[in-house]
Amino acid sequence: MIADSPLYQGMRTKLITHLREKGAFDENVLQAMQLMPRHYFVPFSLIAYAYQDQALPIACQQTISQPYTVANQSTLLSVKPNMKILEIGTGSGYQSAILKTMGALVYTIERHRQLYEETKQLFSSLKLNIATKLGDGYAGWTEFAPFDRIIVTCGAASLPEKLIAQLKIGGIMICPIGEKMQEMTKIVKIDNKNLEITTHGDCNFVPMLSQTEYQSH
Ligand code: SAH
Repeated sequence: MIADSPLYQGMRTKLITHLREKGAFDENVLQAMQLMPRHYFVPFSLIAYAYQDQALPIACQQTISQPYTVANQSTLLSVKPNMKILEIGTGSGYQSAILKTMGALVYTIERHRQLYEETKQLFSSLKLNIATKLGDGYAGWTEFAPFDRIIVTCGAASLPEKLIAQLKIGGIMICPIGEKMQEMTKIVKIDNKNLEITTHGDCNFVPMLSQTEYQSH
C-alpha cells in the first residue's frame, strides 16, 4: 500500500471541490471522502487515476464506484453516527470505508471469494472494524438484522424483497434498480406494509447476480 501524503491529500481536496460543483452532497460524506484515501482501494497500476471522478476496474471484472456515485448514494442514505448499515457488494471496500469514517457500524456482503478475502485483509491492515461476509446479498444478513440503512452497490433487476424485511421501520434503503441501466432508488420503510419509493436519476452498476450464478463467475 502506498502511504497517504500531502500530494494525495491535495488531490482529494481537488476531487471534493469538483464534487461540490457537480451536486449538493451531505457535508459529512464529503468530509469522510476528504479523510479516507481512495488510492488504498484501487489496483496498484491505477493509483494515478484514484482521484479522478471515474469508476475504475478492480479484480473479478468488478469496479470501484465513481466518487460522484459514492457521494450520491451516501448522501441519499442520510447516515448518522452509530447507525447499523448493511452494504451489498463489498468490492474494493471503499464505500464501506466511507460509511465507517462517518461513524456507522458497517456490515458488508460480497459474492466473489477473491474480493471478499482481499478486502477483508485490507480492512484489517487499515484497522477498519467492518464486518465482512462471503455470500449472496439477496439473502441479506439475518443474524444482524434489522438495519437502520441498507445500501446496494450493484444493480438489482427488481426490488430485493428480503432486504426490505431486514430494514427497521423508518429505515432507508438505497438501491440501483433496473434491467440494463438502473435508476437510483430510495425506499423508505414506512411500516410493515407501506414503502415510500422515489427515484434519483439513471446509473450504471455491475449487475447484482443471484446465488445460482455464485459458482460460475
Ligand atoms: N461498493 C463497491 C462496489 C463494487 S462493484 C466499492 O466501493 O468498490 C459491486 C460488487 O457487488 C462487486 O464486487 C460484485 O461482485 C458484488 N455483487 C454482485 N452481486 C452480488 C450479490 N448478489 N451479493 C453480494 N455481492 C454481489
